[in-house]
Order: sequence, then structure tokens, then C-alpha cells
Amino acid sequence: MKSARITGPNEPLKVSESQTPKPLGNQVLVKVKAVGVCHSDLHLWEGGYDLGDGQFMKVTDRGVKYPVTPGHEIAGTVEEIGSDVTGISKGDSVLVYPWIGCGQCPACKAENENLCDTPKSLGVFQDGGYSDYSLVPHYKYLAKLDGVNPDSATSLACSGLTAYTAIKKSNQNMPEFIVVIGAGGLGLMGVQIAKAITKAKIICVDLDDQKLDTAKEMGADYVLNSKDPETSQKIISICNNMGADSVVDFVNAPPTAKLGLSVLRKRGNLVLVGLFGGSIEMSLVTIPLKSIIIQGAYTGNYHDMLELLDLARKGIINPMISKRYSLDDANTALEDLKARKILGRAVINP
Ligand code: NAD
Ligand code: ZN
Repeated sequence: MKSARITGPNEPLKVSESQTPKPLGNQVLVKVKAVGVCHSDLHLWEGGYDLGDGQFMKVTDRGVKYPVTPGHEIAGTVEEIGSDVTGISKGDSVLVYPWIGCGQCPACKAENENLCDTPKSLGVFQDGGYSDYSLVPHYKYLAKLDGVNPDSATSLACSGLTAYTAIKKSNQNMPEFIVVIGAGGLGLMGVQIAKAITKAKIICVDLDDQKLDTAKEMGADYVLNSKDPETSQKIISICNNMGADSVVDFVNAPPTAKLGLSVLRKRGNLVLVGLFGGSIEMSLVTIPLKSIIIQGAYTGNYHDMLELLDLARKGIINPMISKRYSLDDANTALEDLKARKILGRAVINP
């Protein structure tokens, strides 16, 4: 099989051939039709996360081993199944749930494998889908597409799933206004999902007017370019001069986290999702006085992915795929994402 692999931080991805694996027991071999290009692939390629104050969290310290094949948004057809597989047959069109856990820790026992203490996620801790084949360790991680287009389905495994978890968290205080920061792959799904599952008015913020136009088409009631120094005051004034009930920060860097905190009303809810990173100082006393909640959101569980597939099947959400690349162009795909040239999601069609 042919794979585009990360051999080390910031090294060009290397396209190489290896033996196509044979699925054993519960394993399933999926022929990859499409794999989403996520900003998290970029962090993996860059070698880690910005902790702020010049500190860097290396992915290798979190258990990543190079070389690794990235790609955690995998859709394809079942090529071959192991002898113990049931309910899945050769030729089925499937989406792969990549957030595989240990199966033993409290999170896994509660069916939240995405929050496992020792994750084994595909495309991060084990080889993923920048490849023409992907070996899925157990058939329970597959979901049938049943009519959803494979290119669109890819984003439901990460960008859609993460946005779904985050928007559900932002909806806990019955918001009248939700601010979505970042109109990239995740944020545009966030706007659509917020429109579909909440009653809130949606305010979307980004640095790029074209992305904001798309956010508006996808259901944002207000869009603001945060290059404008008045953005914070403008958001507060849209929110009846009280501030926003919830903010979902799909960037989560110092300027966006500060913006989020500055517009949050009393009893507000800040959901941090992006991994751009860095650090901020904050006034501690306002947290109890305003009784705000600051929480993180990390991907989502398998059942949420099934719910999302259903929303996509009914046309309630429509993941936007704006660019397609071949496996040989994996480097260009990542470079384009880094240069903010991609609207919504790009996929690689191996
Ligand atoms: P993307 O590159 O598609 O989109 C990022 C968007 O943020 C772009 O539209 C960009 O213009 C905008 N942006 C950047 N800096 C900004 C700023 N200062 N102010 C306003 N807007 C700004 O990325 P993506 O694939 O949507 O991923 C977003 C982040 O979420 C990444 O850090 C990614 O690793 C992370 N992520 C987190 C999870 C999770 O479970 N928590 C899952 C997947 C991805
Ligand atoms: Zn992702």
C-alpha cells in the first residue's frame, strides 16, 4: 500500500510503499476513498503545541512515534474483513471512528473513548488514513455511510464531531447568543450545528472575510472580522449590552481567548476547542463574581458520530469540501491549510 508519512517534525511528508496488511480477528481493512485534512495534522507535523511563554509540548512526549501516517477523518469501502467480524461486509461504504481508547479506563467504560487516559487514536498514535488502505483494529469503530458521500462524511469523524461536542457544551445554559470564534473546518461545522441544535443567535468571528461570508451562508446571524479593534464592544452590543451567553473558541490562542472572556456575560460559558495554544493572564476574581464556566472539549464519542451521520443523511448539516488532493500532494494540502487557503475542509483522495 501507498502512504504519505510524517518522518519527523517539519520534514516533508514521505510517500512510501509497504505491505498491505491482512485483517485478522476483529480487524477490518478499509480502502480509503477520502481522508480529511485537519489542522491537528499540522500540529502533528510541526511536532507539538505552543504552551506559551516559549514552552512547547512535543507530541513525542504525548506518545507519538515517528514515522507516522497522519489522517483521522477516514471514509472508504471495506476491502477485507477478519474472521470474527460481524455486521460489516466487503464493499460496505464506511466512516471510521478514529478516537480509539484502551477500553479499560473510566472514560472508555463510559463509552467516551475520545477521553481515554492512554489513547490509541488513528492518525496520531497509530497509522491513519493518508494512505490507500487503513487497518481498523475492530469493526465496532466503523459506521455505515448509507448514502452519505464519502468526501463529506470524513469531516464527521473529527471536525463535525468536535464541533458537535463543543456546541452541546455551549448549549447547557440555554444561550440566547453563541459566539463561534474561527470559521475554519471546525468553526463552519460549529455554525451549522449550532443552527441545527440550539435556539441561539450565532455570532461568528474570524480574520478572513471570505470565511465569514461562508459562515453567513451556513447560518451565522452576525459575522465580525476580529481585525477590527472594536470587535469586543460590537459583540456586547449585539448581545443586548449584556454579553454573550456562550463562546466556543475553535482557535484558542491568546487573542481569541481574551476576546472570548471579554464578551462573556454573567453565568457565561466559555468552551475552548482549538489547539493553536499559548497562554494568557486572567483576572481571577471575575470568574466567581460572574459565575462563569471555562471548559475544554475534545473530539466526541462514537454515538455522537452516528447522530451526526444521521443529520448529514437528512441534509440538516452539509460539510463543505472545497479542495481535493492526491496522496502525492499531501505536502501541498498541509501547506495550503497552514497558509489559510482552504475554505471549510480539504480532503485527500488516495
Ligand atoms: P482551520 O485551519 O481549518 O481553521 C482555523 C480558522 O481560525 C481559520 O478560519 C483562521 O482564519 C481562523 N483564525 C486563526 N487565527 C485567528 C484569530 N487570531 N482570530 C480569529 N480567527 C482566527 O483549522 P481547524 O481544522 O478548524 O482546527 C482548528 C483548531 O482546532 C486547530 O488548532 C485544531 O488542531 C484544533 N482541533 C481541536 C480538536 C479538539 O478536539 N479539541 C479537534 C480537531 C481540531
Ligand atoms: Zn481533526
